[in-house]
Amino acid sequence: MRSLKELARPNVRALKAYSSARDEYKGCEAHVFLDANESPYNSPLNRYPDPLQEELKTMIVDNRHRNYIWKDSDRVQVSSKNLFLGNGSDEAIDLLFRAFCEPRIDNAVAIDPSYGMYQVCAETNDIEYRKVSLTEHFEIDVDALLAATDGHTKLLFLCSPNNPTGNLIDVDKVERILANFDGLLIVDEAYVDFANKPSWLTRIPQHDKLVVLQTMSKAWACAGIRLGMAWANDYIIQLFNKIKYPYNVNKLTQEAAKNRLMKEELVHSEVQQIIEERESMRICLEALPIAICVYPSQANFLLVKFQDGDALYHYLVQAGIIVRNRNTVHRCAGCLRLTIGTKAENEELIKGIESFAQEVEQLV
Ligand SMILES: *Cc1c(COP(=O)(O)O)cnc(C)c1O
Repeated sequence: MRSLKELARPNVRALKAYSSARDEYKGCEAHVFLDANESPYNSPLNRYPDPLQEELKTMIVDNRHRNYIWKDSDRVQVSSKNLFLGNGSDEAIDLLFRAFCEPRIDNAVAIDPSYGMYQVCAETNDIEYRKVSLTEHFEIDVDALLAATDGHTKLLFLCSPNNPTGNLIDVDKVERILANFDGLLIVDEAYVDFANKPSWLTRIPQHDKLVVLQTMSKAWACAGIRLGMAWANDYIIQLFNKIKYPYNVNKLTQEAAKNRLMKEELVHSEVQQIIEERESMRICLEALPIAICVYPSQANFLLVKFQDGDALYHYLVQAGIIVRNRNTVHRCAGCLRLTIGTKAENEELIKGIESFAQEVEQLV
């Protein structure tokens, strides 16, 4: 098995990070700051933000320590040295390619269907992207995934709960990949807070090639501030810190994230409400004859196969209700992805689907 150092791109390993004024001076006794060509006016936004977001990272790590437990006892052993913060998880996805994949030589393997940004980032970086189909029931095929890898495969992307399918990936299957794949295994956990299984975060200390992606965009209800997290071995985090934009997470975002993290209880109850709504939406949808299948979901959305999903999608748009049309996605013909909203929003969606069904019925 290759070491992290062997997996990293040689130019990235060798480069020296840009050193900003705020990197060079770190201390708290000073009171006159004339080192960064900032304006003295318009405090506090006149100052550059903390390039490594130390305060925010400490708060996120504390939150995870309080909330994540593996098999009842194992607490999370990670620290802020294992955490990268970026402009959405999308930044971390891009950095994985830039730090590890040699353009036109290396490749990445991923499950299909899954989140679209893996492929966009692969192609932007001129990295071959190999898709391995999920089974009919959206399970991963470990043998097929491993068979798709070769000596130039640096990254393997899993997403659990997966987008757009909503299901979790079996722990045993992830374990098998961890044991047999000679590269970085990325588990995208954007929806983990809606799931009834623990995060892979607790396993970072044992697996130096495991990368866990999380975000403040979904359960934390902060998609607008753009804050994504990558958890990994500190060597990987150091590589990311070398090549990221120096001030990649702005001050307003850092402040908004801290304020939100202080409302842990509220967020927890919102997540519970979304989960309850998801389950009552499931019951409503399963009662509708035009819904052929409501797939199991551990996320804040339901993937539903309809008799004519495409027509339903356009009908709903006319009614001012926007859902995600996944009709053209691999293994998702006729499928719409329905995000769980407030009770009132969800009821309006159900009403819209019902009146579509009535109109279709009148036509036949
Ligand atoms: C929504 C989502 C993200 C979040 O991306 P951000 O850039 O953090 O908003 C990441 N991965 C998956 C699979 C998602 O669905």
